Amino acid sequence: MSDRRGKAAAVPTASRRTIVQAIRCEGIGLHTGKPVAMTLVPAAPGTGIVFRRTDVPGDTGVLPARWDRVTQTMHATLLSNANGVTLSTVEHVMAALAGLGIDDILVAVDGPELPIMDGSSEPFVFLLESAGLRDSEQPRRYLKIRRTVSITEGRKTASLSPADHFSVSVEIDFGDTAVARQSGAVVVNPTSFKTEISRARTFGFLEEVNYLRANGLALGGSLDNAVVVSGQSVMNPEGLRFADEFVRHKILDCIGDLYLAGGPVLGAFHGVRSGHALNNKLLRAVFADPANYEWVEAIPAVAVGAPMDLPAVAARA
Ligand SMILES: [Zn+2]
Repeated sequence: MSDRRGKAAAVPTASRRTIVQAIRCEGIGLHTGKPVAMTLVPAAPGTGIVFRRTDVPGDTGVLPARWDRVTQTMHATLLSNANGVTLSTVEHVMAALAGLGIDDILVAVDGPELPIMDGSSEPFVFLLESAGLRDSEQPRRYLKIRRTVSITEGRKTASLSPADHFSVSVEIDFGDTAVARQSGAVVVNPTSFKTEISRARTFGFLEEVNYLRANGLALGGSLDNAVVVSGQSVMNPEGLRFADEFVRHKILDCIGDLYLAGGPVLGAFHGVRSGHALNNKLLRAVFADPANYEWVEAIPAVAVGAPMDLPAVAARA
């Protein structure tokens, strides 16, 4: 590791990180219901996170993981490129990459949607760690938030405020259902991500699933890859992985969506009833004014992070 960065060199995640070797998995698309294979490939420092559709000719399927390539946020985050090629449901892979501090990687996929696996980021964390993590001699580049930026739409809000770490706090309110009202907060680092967030699965309501299917969506959805809620009941026979799995998954989605900034965020996110759409609008608002942010190179204290803080996550029904 380079000594050029002084103390920064002593902290692994102060360096740009990729994986040691390529690794592959197969699954199905949540919305298409079709089989899809994904291969994670190491990339040189400075490459960034780049998706590539291998089922379209040549380089037409290259999709950089960037906030300004997001064109749909209805039921998942979807990227598009100038050739009209799209890739859906990138957020759970993006969350795993953010959580493990991976900056440079090629994600090759042979269909229009990433595999849903079990509906969480845990299978992707397992894959990445199985491939092995490798730090480069190049410093990480952080998006440092310089002043608070907020978006409000009706009762939904999302904001990013200056902080010397990356934290995410979210409040959700699904009224008189098993989800109810939950809130949670985490200072994001590899340990907290893996133990507190990565296993939380996506969720949906039974009535909504029926509607989505009637409209050709969620065709691959099942109790194997989502928590399904009907009123006060969780339909999955195995139950929940955490009492507050729902808000933890919202935090996971947010970590993935914000990683489309183009680097790790140094800032405190707070969301109330927020989702993919608001997360992307927030990034657009940050980048709309250069006074809102600056790009800074690796800071050792960030990489170490603070322990998980989940003081009031229990469901407040
Ligand atoms: Zn999700």
